[in-house]
Amino acid sequence: MLEPATEAVLAEVPRAGPEDVDAAVAAASAALPAWRALAPGERAGVLYALADKLGEHHEELAVLEARNAGKAIVDARAEIGMVIDTFRYYAGAPERLLGDTIPVAGGQAFTVREPVGVVGLITPWNFPLTIASWKLAPALAAGNTVVLKPAELTPLSALRFAELAAEAGIPDGVVNVVVGPGSSCGQRLVEHPDVAKIAFTGSTEVGRSIAAGAAASIKRVTLELGGKSANIVFADADLEAAAAAAPLAVFGNAGQDCCARSRILVQEEVRDRFLELLEPHVKALRVGDPLAEDTQMGPLISAGQLESVTSFLDGQAPVAFRGSAPDGPGHWFAPTVLSPVKPSDRVAREEVFGPIAAVMSFRDEAEAIGLANDTIYGLSGSIWTRDGARALRVARAVQTGVLSINANTSVRVSTPFGGFKQSGYGRELGPHALEAYSEVKTIFYATEGR
Ligand code: NDP
Repeated sequence: MLEPATEAVLAEVPRAGPEDVDAAVAAASAALPAWRALAPGERAGVLYALADKLGEHHEELAVLEARNAGKAIVDARAEIGMVIDTFRYYAGAPERLLGDTIPVAGGQAFTVREPVGVVGLITPWNFPLTIASWKLAPALAAGNTVVLKPAELTPLSALRFAELAAEAGIPDGVVNVVVGPGSSCGQRLVEHPDVAKIAFTGSTEVGRSIAAGAAASIKRVTLELGGKSANIVFADADLEAAAAAAPLAVFGNAGQDCCARSRILVQEEVRDRFLELLEPHVKALRVGDPLAEDTQMGPLISAGQLESVTSFLDGQAPVAFRGSAPDGPGHWFAPTVLSPVKPSDRVAREEVFGPIAAVMSFRDEAEAIGLANDTIYGLSGSIWTRDGARALRVARAVQTGVLSINANTSVRVSTPFGGFKQSGYGRELGPHALEAYSEVKTIFYATEGR
């Protein structure tokens, strides 16, 4: 694999094929009975040990991720911090997988949660180990064994994770990592008869094919897909705060973020003022060497991504202003603000997955909601206003799985995350993720009539 900031070879990894997926699934199947039978407190203990082990290797994993994915080291450190927190959070879960008792005639009815079985995890390149951890931790906590297929472009942190998991005491076969192309290895996981569930994060297009492929064996599927999130700025908002926060909400991780607020909707009467406030923040963004401590944005992941992002400068919407980016090797693209953008422009409709913001204006609350919802996606978004009642009205009306008011956050370890509409289904993180990795079983014990 190449380092996106230099285009130099970073590492070479043997490419797996479908037969390696079969071997990994066989190992995961063999490990399942003992892992699921482990006493809840013991499974918790192993997961706490894993969190500790990852903590000891925090900086090493952050540097690996920063170099392989081209992300700013400060971001990579925060992401690995979240990975560790995610394992710690779900380490508490094995002993809290509660069931219900339900009043019925003739006996006692109660529910228990069973693991689903062998779970296939298919993950993208933009937040490699972070997104993997959102799946790994609840899956393992609920007693499943896993086969993880990371994106071919960024497998290094997953491979290192597997080594650290073994050192932390995760038994052989419980965590398996297979590095190979989605079209062969990913597909084989989706089709494999012994894989009970697929948890996928990636593009809506591939998500659709996974859902279709999984239907043949009625596999469980959760999908975290693309987004086209709106950052809605009302005239009564703290405009300075909204403008200062907007750049990283769309240019963070070089815009390669499914939650990127890539449509900035500004109320008509303050649009010019907002753009005036936004411009210096965009121009001040520090774009450069991912390993430099003050870097805020790195390069795009690949030459293909650079070409795809560049295609959005198609002349439909004018460039209002741009930040800077280094010359020379590396897949660099300067943060770019397009304005005014029409709702029909391609940049307003398609996911860019790069550092381009589309600024549009609206007259009133109803038009803001209409524009925000005028997309096939429904992942995240923000609302900036000082009117609390309006903030809550708009938050209820915007069709996305996550929203923030006077902030641009989307994910926390302890709160559910996932999409409406074609941004996918199922929830990750928080208490809800465990539901996606376990089946409810109802047991009736007759006490009468025997
Ligand atoms: P892809 O959907 O192309 O790839 C995601 C993963 O799926 C990779 O591991 C890939 O393997 C694998 N894959 C590809 N084809 C298949 C297939 N036919 N069967 C099974 N697996 C397959 O997305 P990208 O990695 O290119 O990421 C960019 C896209 O992902 C963006 O559109 C973005 O919105 C979305 N995304 C959504 C997120 C969310 O949480 N909603 C988070 C991150 C990204 P390989 O690449 O190795 O061939």
